[in-house]
Amino acid sequence: MPQVDDLFKVTHRLMRNRIQRRPHPPAKDYITLSFYQFRPIDQHDLLKIQYYFLTDLWAMDVVGRIYVSAEGINAQISCPKTRVQQFKDYYATHWPIFDKIRFNPAMSEGKAFKKLHIRIKGQLVADGIDNSTFDLYNEPTYLTPEEWHKELTSLTKPPILIDMRNHYESTIGHFENAIRPDVTTFRENVDAMLEICEGKEDQDIYMYCTGGIRCTRSGALLKSKGFKSVKMLQGGVTAYGRYIQEQSKAAAVTEPTNDESSTTVDASKVSSIYKGKNFTFDKRLGEPITDDVLAKCHICGSVCDTYCNCTNTACNLLMISCPSCLEKHEGTCGSGSCVDMVKLLNEKQKNIAKDHPGFAGMKARLGVKPFHEHRLNVRPLTVMEMRKNKLHSQQ
Ligand SMILES: [Zn+2]
Ligand SMILES: [Zn+2]
Repeated sequence: MPQVDDLFKVTHRLMRNRIQRRPHPPAKDYITLSFYQFRPIDQHDLLKIQYYFLTDLWAMDVVGRIYVSAEGINAQISCPKTRVQQFKDYYATHWPIFDKIRFNPAMSEGKAFKKLHIRIKGQLVADGIDNSTFDLYNEPTYLTPEEWHKELTSLTKPPILIDMRNHYESTIGHFENAIRPDVTTFRENVDAMLEICEGKEDQDIYMYCTGGIRCTRSGALLKSKGFKSVKMLQGGVTAYGRYIQEQSKAAAVTEPTNDESSTTVDASKVSSIYKGKNFTFDKRLGEPITDDVLAKCHICGSVCDTYCNCTNTACNLLMISCPSCLEKHEGTCGSGSCVDMVKLLNEKQKNIAKDHPGFAGMKARLGVKPFHEHRLNVRPLTVMEMRKNKLHSQQ
């Protein structure tokens, strides 16, 4: 067992990815998994967990983000397909404290992260509510995607169904009849949820989020407040998307037979009650569940649901932009300063490339701290409107 000082040094080097990196398998040979578990962890064990995860998972070529805190673990990782079983066994055999982890695979294959980050956090999902004020382990009822689908499609009146995600996530896809609070943070959404549910302690409350962790937490809060029936989608929209994908695959390959004795939903009749895309917090920024396009380009207003960040990394605004706007504005958000910056840099790069044939190019303003953090809950339309107004007032 390493000493604490050594632990710090090695962990620091590993975190900075200073340990010689081995060549990873090709990106197509990866799959992405998410998992979480709320359980109390001794504060003193967090550094050890960080150290062991960094060394052990690095050796398995795993990349992604794992957050550990005194209240549990939350992870999104990409793992080589050939090592998935080894990865699962690693948790089962070495980490009995994480005995309730459910591995939740993404819908599409491929590598969603470049590096491995293990971070020690105060709260796994920040809602600002003190854990001592409610029972975090009084978890809501988990419905598998199939149970969720069956139950929601068989209700006779519209349910109290709450989307526990932020506005930029539910804009591009959501369940039919869902209440989608217009919020920018989870904290605001918890307040909205409490308002929506007020006085409905005896009714069924349904809730969903991307992978389930936000509902596990906010559902426990509702239950602690005396709500009798709180039901959440196990594995979140990600698991539901995979369920729909599997059902349509099964419907495509299996011929209908008469000796069906199973009680599962008839695959050929499953039509997704989630429409559009599932926003993901990795470089894909979303995966489609149905072909419905629910959003609009933030620049021209045409039908589009593809998120990207402004190419000017100093700006970094998360926005929905159609291909023609991207081309017209050099991949930026369209603000004059961003377009100028990228044009200037492209020009410089061309000149450098002329003199240095091997020059691979560089990103705009690399190393500058972005003005809009990836998830800084920015409302792109507001930012763009403000810029327009500022321009008008200057004229
Ligand atoms: Zn456009
Ligand atoms: Zn920009």
